[in-house]
Order: sequence, then C-alpha cells, then structure tokens
Amino acid sequence: MIDSETSFVSGSAEPTGIRRCHHAGARQPGHPLQRLRAVYSHLLAILVTAAVLTAANGQEPSAASERFAIVGARVFDGERTLTDATVLVSAGRIEAVGIGLAVPERFALVDGAGRTLLPGLIDAHVHARAGGAARALAFGVTTELDMFTDPALAREMRAGQAAGTADARADLFSAGILATAPGGHGTQYGFRIPTISTPAEAPAFVDARLAEGSDYLKIVLDDGRAFGVAFPTLDAATVGALVKAAHGRGKLAVVHVGSLAGAEMAIAAGADGLVHLFADRPPPADFVRRAREAGAFVVATLGVTGTTTGVPAGRELAADARVAPYLDAAEHELLRRAYPRQPGSRIDLTNAATGIRALAEAGIPILAGSDAPNPGTAHGVTMHGELELLVKAGLSPTAALTAATAAPADAFRLADRGRIRPGLRADLLLVEGDPTTDITATRNLVAIWKRGVRFQRPRHDVVLAEPPKRGGGRVSDFETALGSSFETDWKTSTDAVIGGKSTASLTRLAEGADGSQGAMRITGAVAADSPNGWAGAVLHPGGRQGTAVDLSATPVLAFAARGSGTYDLSIFARRFGLAPVSRSFTADAEWRRYVVPFAELSGFDGRDVTAIFIGSITAGAFTLDIDDVELRPSQE
Ligand SMILES: [Zn+2]
Repeated sequence: MIDSETSFVSGSAEPTGIRRCHHAGARQPGHPLQRLRAVYSHLLAILVTAAVLTAANGQEPSAASERFAIVGARVFDGERTLTDATVLVSAGRIEAVGIGLAVPERFALVDGAGRTLLPGLIDAHVHARAGGAARALAFGVTTELDMFTDPALAREMRAGQAAGTADARADLFSAGILATAPGGHGTQYGFRIPTISTPAEAPAFVDARLAEGSDYLKIVLDDGRAFGVAFPTLDAATVGALVKAAHGRGKLAVVHVGSLAGAEMAIAAGADGLVHLFADRPPPADFVRRAREAGAFVVATLGVTGTTTGVPAGRELAADARVAPYLDAAEHELLRRAYPRQPGSRIDLTNAATGIRALAEAGIPILAGSDAPNPGTAHGVTMHGELELLVKAGLSPTAALTAATAAPADAFRLADRGRIRPGLRADLLLVEGDPTTDITATRNLVAIWKRGVRFQRPRHDVVLAEPPKRGGGRVSDFETALGSSFETDWKTSTDAVIGGKSTASLTRLAEGADGSQGAMRITGAVAADSPNGWAGAVLHPGGRQGTAVDLSATPVLAFAARGSGTYDLSIFARRFGLAPVSRSFTADAEWRRYVVPFAELSGFDGRDVTAIFIGSITAGAFTLDIDDVELRPSQE
C-alpha cells in the first residue's frame, strides 16, 4: 500500500548537501553535518588519481639563448610604471631596463607601442596537477605556488625546473602534503595522507615534509562551521608547534583558515601568512592591527570564496572573448561550476572583499591566488579573474598587479622573479593596452616569455553545446527490466572506482509499488574502511557519464521506495562537477512515495543533469527497493 505522498520538505529528512565527487561524505553515520567533509575543497582526488602520470606539454624549447628588446612599452616593474621604456633580455635574464636605452646589435626588436610589459604572474594558491602548470603559462602565469598536492608530482616538476626543461610551463613551488588533523579538511579525497594530532609530533611531521621536498609548510585550521559543515581541526598548541618547527628549519608556515577565529589563532601562532581570507565576517580592526604587527601576508582567493556560496566565479571570465578561444573544453566546464551553498553557511564574498581592502589599506601584503582547480577556477586563467575581483574590492589596478607579481615573490622569498629589474629572470608578459588603468587588459596577451623563451599559446576555440532538452514523465517502472525512458539502464555505482571496498548489485523484483509488476532492488554494503564510501544505483540520463541533459521542464523527481533505514539521493549536474546536490531519506517496510523538487537541492534548476544516484553512504549492509521513478513538471 502506498501512503499519501510525502514531500521531503515537510519530512524529517535532513539535507545532506554536497559531498566531494561522491567520494566524500560518509564517515559519521547519523550526523549529517559530519558526513559532509567536503565543502570548500579541491579536486585533488580525481586529479591526483587520474591525471598525475600524464606528462605535461611535450614541447620543450631549448635553453634560452635569444636576445631581444621590447621597445617603447609601458613597463610595470612589479610596483611602478615606466612609460615608453626599453627592456633588454638576453640568456633568459633581464639585462637592462630604462628609457631611451640603446638597443645593441643582434637583439631582435619587439614593438611595445600601446602595450604594457609586466612580470610573469605568480599565482599564490594552486593545487598542482599534471598539465596544470602548462595551462597556467598559457595565461601568463609563470610561477605557481602549490598549497597541497602529491609530493611525487612536485618533486618531478622541481627536477624539471632544475634541469632547465620547464620553459613550456609555469614553475612550481609546493607545500606537498598539508598538515591537518585526522579526519580534517584535506583528508576527504579518497586517498590517505599522514595527519597530526599533538604538538609533540610537529618536528617529525615537518621533517617528513621537508624530506619529501616541500618548499614551505601548509597548515589547515578550519572546523568547517563557517561553511555550514563540521570536521575536526588542529588545536592552537599543535599549530604553534608546527609553525615553530617550520621556522626552525628555515621554512615558511602558511595557514588555511575558514573563519576569523582560525585566522586569529594562526596569527597568534606566528604564521607567515594566510592562504585564504575568512569570509564569515569582515575583519575587526584589532585583527587587522595584529596581522600587521605580526608582518603576516594574506592570499586573497576571492573567486573561490564566491564559488563556495554557489556563485560560479569563472562564468563571466569564460565568456570573455579575450579568454574563451584559449580555454580547453574541460576549463570551460570547470569555470562554470560552483559548490552548492550549504544551509548553515556564513560565507559572504562581501566580507572577504571588504576585508581584503581593509588589510591592504593597513599595509598588509595582499597576494593573488586562484585556488585552481576548484570548481569555478582553472589554472592560469583564473588569475585574470582574481585581478579584476581585487580591483572590485577596492585595490588600485597597480596594487592588484603587485599582488600577482612582486608581493608573492617577496612573501615567498623568490628573489629571482616577480619584478622587471636587471638580473632577474625574463618571465614576462606583453599585453595590449594598459592594465594599470583597466585591469582586464591583462587578458589581451600579445606575448608570454618564460626565462626569455617565447611560449606559443595553443588556441582551442571550443564551442560549448547547451545540454539537449529532455522531457520527463515516467522514467522507470521496472515492469520488465531495469531500463529507463532515457534508453539507458540503471547501473551499480560504488566507491570501487576510487579504490573503495563497497559493493552493490541490482535485481528486478516481480512485484512493485501499488500492486505493479516490477521494482528495482538495490542490495549492497558500504565498507566501514572506505573513507567517504558509497554504494547504490545510478542513472545517466545523457546516456553516459558526464553527458548532461536539460531536465528543467520537469524539475521534480518522484519515486517510490521501501527499505529499512536512511538512504541517499544525489543529483549530479554539469555545473557542480563531481560534487552532487543531495538529500537523505528514510524508508521502511511499506512502499512510500517521495517527491523532490530539484529547487530544494541548493536551488538547482535541472538544466544540466548528468546523473541520478540512489543508494547508501552509511557504513553497513543495506537493501532498498525503488519503483515508479518519474520526472514531473511541478510538485502537484
Ligand atoms: Zn586550496
């Protein structure tokens, strides 16, 4: 028998919100907030597991032997602007900078009229992935400062830089593995990393990172609460011991914070800098004063901060005609994504923007960082969006450019770059127009040089297809098979794809809801030792994984279910990438109907659905019967 229809809104089910990649989420059954490990995090799991071994751009130019002169350009040297200047480059270094310089023979001439020469950009917050640094260089980012990646990847990239074979990509400096508490932010990516719990462990922890090659130490101090979630984090004593251990070994210690409270603790612990500004509130005056007195710097990652509130930070950037032809298909996708906003989130981009302005006015060094490749960001291109956001926050265009050049070079002690000055590396950008008056002119890239080697930007000219519109109606009645009106069958989905041990199987029952002749039975087990495990059934309405369809004409999912316990419904959308919008629901031995308007899932409109998942994210064995899956035009 079927009860009268139950809407999720009126039911007691708590929203489960986003989970990373479907890889994150289920560690603490019964505590929905604790199941959400993932908010405001990075795409490392997929990128590290899937892409690490792919070689970067194969084209490796020979050592920089060119001599050339950029003549008649406006030159932003990292802090100030010279007009009608000449810059001489030879053997990969800047040889001279001045007005009216004679150009020696055998120097090729580059016309700088109407153009601006800038130091190569330094992105002060990325997560390295194979190929990412080549994409960075394609947008004028000549140095990336990584804040958590696979140390083996970082080691390989450092070796390439030392051998002089890295001129077709940005240089990388890396934190390697971050310092976080067991179960803390950074542990949710489906692979195990060492963690730390007590001050006594700090020296050995830091020694291990340095042995892996880390250039500096990155510490996570974030309990998730500002984002509407909760996870464990380090205590003040442990953070203090980590900072002390890093400093004792001559290394910087930088801290990821998620709230004012975390930032205060980091500054009190002696951290060199914050790699995000908190956005749960604007910084109070006494925090600004203490940060200034401590000499700390702050990396503004304004785009990704907006992205955690559901705003796809890169959407307008990806549509900019100066940028779009150079983006590949994956970047077009990634830039249009955001994290669904969590119900309890206190994050507000305005807080971060006014905060950055207040810090800058107090003389605190501001560094620009993309936090690529989080949803809404991509390596390289996002720095052009960050520069614009810094100006919108109230920095002058010149101050914004300093935040992406001289300021990160100073903060991270990179004495050989970040400025246009004799003796420094010839990491240079030539752009049409004047970014010191119109910051978006950095997108008019005319030439990019890494160590004096000209980089040829690949064009992609991707044409983005809108997802095809599909009607809804009866999707699956399971009367004869486990098929659907989308001409694809329901299939099992488990964490085995990321190395987990959860299992699932699907069978057709000969009796279903409302006296019908069929239903789908999902049996499975979520393995207790699979971090963030899942098991269940998935339908790809686009025919295959990752292909989106537009279901916005029928944006209400209805189904019947029978079981014993709490289950998970997750909708994957192209714009949300691998982080679904989700609801938990409870089912008992009676068939009941469930009606879920997509709009109740973080305001989702159904325009680009890639997958519908029904199953369990709670450790243990389960059985769940599903019938009469429908997509309706309205809730009725
Ligand atoms: Zn990050």
